[in-house]
Amino acid sequence: MRWISASTSFVTALPRFHQLSLLGLGLLLSIALVLPSSDSNFSSSPLSLGHLTDTDAPVFEQPELSLRQLRAPWAFDKVPTHETLLVPVAGNTPNSYQYIVRKGDTLSKIFERLQLPQKTMYQLLEADVNVLALDNLKPGHTLVFDKQDQVLKRFELQFSLSHKVVYQRKESGGFEFEEVQLEGDWQDQLVSGEIILTFTGSSQKAGLSQWEAQTITQILKQRVDFRRDLQRGDKFEVLLSRQYVDGEATGNNRIEAVRIKNRRHDIHAYLFEDNYYDQKGRNLEKAFQRYPFSGKYRQSSRFNPRRKHPVTGLIRPHNGTDFAMPIGAAVRSTGDGIVKRVVRHKYAGLYIEIQHGQSYKTRYLHLNKSYVVKGQRVKRGQRIAQSGNTGRSTGPHLHFELHVNGRPVNPMTAKIPIAVSLTGKKKKAFQSKLKSYLARLDKPSTDKQLALNSDKAGTKSSTL
Ligand SMILES: [Zn+2]
Repeated sequence: MRWISASTSFVTALPRFHQLSLLGLGLLLSIALVLPSSDSNFSSSPLSLGHLTDTDAPVFEQPELSLRQLRAPWAFDKVPTHETLLVPVAGNTPNSYQYIVRKGDTLSKIFERLQLPQKTMYQLLEADVNVLALDNLKPGHTLVFDKQDQVLKRFELQFSLSHKVVYQRKESGGFEFEEVQLEGDWQDQLVSGEIILTFTGSSQKAGLSQWEAQTITQILKQRVDFRRDLQRGDKFEVLLSRQYVDGEATGNNRIEAVRIKNRRHDIHAYLFEDNYYDQKGRNLEKAFQRYPFSGKYRQSSRFNPRRKHPVTGLIRPHNGTDFAMPIGAAVRSTGDGIVKRVVRHKYAGLYIEIQHGQSYKTRYLHLNKSYVVKGQRVKRGQRIAQSGNTGRSTGPHLHFELHVNGRPVNPMTAKIPIAVSLTGKKKKAFQSKLKSYLARLDKPSTDKQLALNSDKAGTKSSTL
């Protein structure tokens, strides 16, 4: 009876409370041929993680379990054990291990496998409510665990070479976090080509990522109809900045300038102070609104990145602004954008994250109900949700965050995009920036540029 021994080893991997309840369950169900897997137990238990239902991240999906999945190797076989999944980290303390997130992982599954108590996971999630990094786990991300005497002292989530979040255990028992983003070296890359069928297809062949191609169509959508106005033979140039840390590409890229040579006219976009402008300094992007609602609601708590918890003394930044809004009041997107997350979180409650172009992101927490789904395009002022009191909340309110280039800023005072032409000093600064962009775009084909282009298979036109 293979499944009995397998399920026993699984049971011993759990905290005692679960061992007892599972053994009881096991006795009741032992006559039934299919023993419930860890998944089915956890998804039906009151401890199941409601927030792990993000449609966004495959790691957080909890798919319907098939028989095949019930026999997932880690649940029913002896290998791979948690030891084979954990790799000791050289140079760190002897109790430091790293784990690379795999497809199908959820945080609770990972903690089960590593025999870490659920309580610890909840303590991490509690600290994470201020950054919501753990909701963004994707295959390939690296987790680093520092254990001492079976207690997790430090936990690291590495998104990339240049971006990680470190959770450090404090004496009071909870965790404090620190988000680390390295500036790295940014190097130019010019990608150019010719349109064959579509801009997105041709620019990807020339070396842009899908995300970069989509971002460009988004930036220029007010100026050009990419399907109707552009034709075969139109030429494009895109100046990118790519990030490197210790000589390795991090995968973080920034679109700095775009020029499309159309039969009738040229189309331009230049990045200046987190916004895109045409060659005359006119803003290409739509304005933001300051408040995530229409009407008036009292501000009940301010943005405060150094806030201390009054009882535990732990640093608990308040990365947004709270508004006293009754349950059911309409929450509106502050700008045009794409819904990136709709997640239920134990502490943040139901929340929505919207990406606005390349530089801006907004978050709306403790919602009662969402009207949008992941991947949906939204307009400025569009009703996206009902305000609520979900998660850990002291009363009905909306917690609203604005992030610029990955960092939370005060949504009430931040310079938000306003759709006007640049004037005065700003215009002068823009013009000198534009000069440097044009110099880089017009630079005659150098060895570097040719080399870059020849790397990309299928590039139709290496230089212009
Ligand atoms: Zn708040």
